[in-house]
Amino acid sequence: MMDRVPLLQGGCFCRAVSYAVYSHPSLSAYCHCTNCQRLTSCPLIHTMHFDAVAFTWTHSEPHEYQLDFYDNPLKSYKRRFRCKTCGVGIASYNSQTQRFSVWGATLDRNQEGKIVGWDVAKPTAHIFYGTRLLDVNDNLGKWEGYESKSERLG
Ligand SMILES: [Zn+2]
Ligand SMILES: [Zn+2]
Repeated sequence: MMDRVPLLQGGCFCRAVSYAVYSHPSLSAYCHCTNCQRLTSCPLIHTMHFDAVAFTWTHSEPHEYQLDFYDNPLKSYKRRFRCKTCGVGIASYNSQTQRFSVWGATLDRNQEGKIVGWDVAKPTAHIFYGTRLLDVNDNLGKWEGYESKSERLG
């Protein structure tokens, strides 16, 4: 456990699983890809990427005791973790890039229901927008793939 102040903290619905991150995300975006849609049963998901050294589980040890995981057969280097008790997906680990993906809706909220640390967490783009299930009328850029690495759609 790092003796620094985390920039963001979150956890599952029942709070049996929790995490903290100690850096700004290297990517924060609304992802409209078909994998995210099908793996979360949501039309889009707010995803953030962090280097593995900046991410730590904070629930009681051994951490694995509360975690189920699923290795995507299409991307075997990606392991998705979910809470054994409430079933909520929390994060995935990419062993190729040694990064965690964390889903923004799991971040801690204040009493008004707003995400604590939103300025750190907030998305900068819509990615994989070509496979969107709904149109989004906001000011963020819309990209066919990753932000600034693919065709811009809007
Ligand atoms: Zn839970
Ligand atoms: Zn995605």
